Amino acid sequence: VGTDRRQHIVLLPFLAQGHIIPFLALARRIAQRHPGRFTLTLVSTPLNVRSLRSSLPPDSGVLLRELPFRGADHGLPPGAEGTDSVSHGLLFKVFQASASLRPEFEGLVAEDIPREDGCPPICIIADVFMGWTVHVARQLGVFHAAFSTCGGFGSAVYFAMWLHLPHRHAASEEDEFGVPSFPETFRLHLSQTSPALKNVHDQDPRVIFFREQITLCCSSDAMLCNTAKALEPTGTALLQKNTGVPVFSIGPILPPVTRSSAGRAGKVLGIAPEACIEWLDAHPPRSVLYVSFGSQNSVSAQQMLQLAAGLEASGRSFIWVIRPPFGFDLKGQFRAEWLPEGFEERVRSSGRGLLVRDWAPQLEILAHGSVGAFMSHCGWNSTLESLARGVPLIGWPMAAEQFYNVKMLEEEMGVCVELARGLVQEVDPAEVGRVVGMVMGEEKGKEMRRRAAEAAEVIRVATREEGAEKGPSLAALEAFLESVQKGTPATG
Ligand code: UDP
Repeated sequence: VGTDRRQHIVLLPFLAQGHIIPFLALARRIAQRHPGRFTLTLVSTPLNVRSLRSSLPPDSGVLLRELPFRGADHGLPPGAEGTDSVSHGLLFKVFQASASLRPEFEGLVAEDIPREDGCPPICIIADVFMGWTVHVARQLGVFHAAFSTCGGFGSAVYFAMWLHLPHRHAASEEDEFGVPSFPETFRLHLSQTSPALKNVHDQDPRVIFFREQITLCCSSDAMLCNTAKALEPTGTALLQKNTGVPVFSIGPILPPVTRSSAGRAGKVLGIAPEACIEWLDAHPPRSVLYVSFGSQNSVSAQQMLQLAAGLEASGRSFIWVIRPPFGFDLKGQFRAEWLPEGFEERVRSSGRGLLVRDWAPQLEILAHGSVGAFMSHCGWNSTLESLARGVPLIGWPMAAEQFYNVKMLEEEMGVCVELARGLVQEVDPAEVGRVVGMVMGEEKGKEMRRRAAEAAEVIRVATREEGAEKGPSLAALEAFLESVQKGTPATG
């Protein structure tokens, strides 16, 4: 029985690096700010917990807990416990399998933790894709918060797309369409629709699943969003209006920059951070382009050849995180035929390019002054990590809410130029060279860097810890924790 009156918060991220990383960062931030007040337990599957454990410092203040996971029951291959270890066609099965964690999760919250702590947890913070946890919280009378690891704008559009399938009203590929619950002037193009949302009807299992999770999250006691209000004034207001749940903009919550050779969340790095830093040290300020498409995406084989040719044509230096192209086993061996003949040797011997296999120390790279732009799929974590360092983006959205992130970053914030969309578009190497030159050059590039530096300042102020005036995002986190402690969740 616990005697120290600490209260327990349980966190459950979706099984993807882009979710586990910010959940862990959130748990660490709460633990670090309130060491005597809360016990934080992050829950995941055995493999995820094992690899998190290998990278978590012993004094992090965060406990890890594993739940048994039977992926094979849902058609997942052995050892697949997350989106980065399955082929694209199996992605939805990860979502379905994650919902099967419910009985064990319920047992943990209702029995194991109360037995160990002497009282039940006071709050569940769960992923937006784990809306079913609202049922668990209601049953047990525990405060529930949905944590969206996407931005405010991206979350708001993404929710509306699943709830309303507005793109089905667009007759042809040329058509634009409006989105219910958004201003009339807001238009999207069919090519800005995630592949998962293409050709779905109301009874499609994916539609049923995502609608249910999103709807449940809209009945939560609170929604946490990994953004700052001042960074996304329009997006956070839309999210608040459309969900009807109190939204706490508590971010950006970013993991700490380290030079540890263990990759973030225990991923195996394709290069030691020191080697990367040394390579960057040898380049002038803002002269290097960093190219990476997150944890679970890759361009198509044809696009990879075109991108390589474009990077060479750009005349700029670059670090490129390479993994097998879309359609191949992303964990498999990288084949020489996926790059133009002699490419790797040419860029290596000239010092122009550094190719990193599979996983790079991204935060450490973006924190280096030699990096001048980031070519990214604009997943929200990558976006925040770039903006926090004042690095402008070249957008290549591929899935999920990345299309809307790019739209906002380009049209509202002026910190991004979209280069390509999705995995079928032909990418002209000359266009790659032109866009890279524009973003890293003078004129447009200069203005983008100014705007990105402004965004970095907004982020710095929003998350400021020191001094009399606490940053608004930290204040929002404190306000959230206060409401958890007052906790008047509905029971049912
Ligand atoms: N990441 C990394 N090294 C890599 C690729 C990705 O550290 O080589 C991290 C990146 O810093 C970010 C996360 O993985 O924290 C990717 O999240 P994001 O939301 O950008 O994209 P997702 O993987 O969810 O599509």
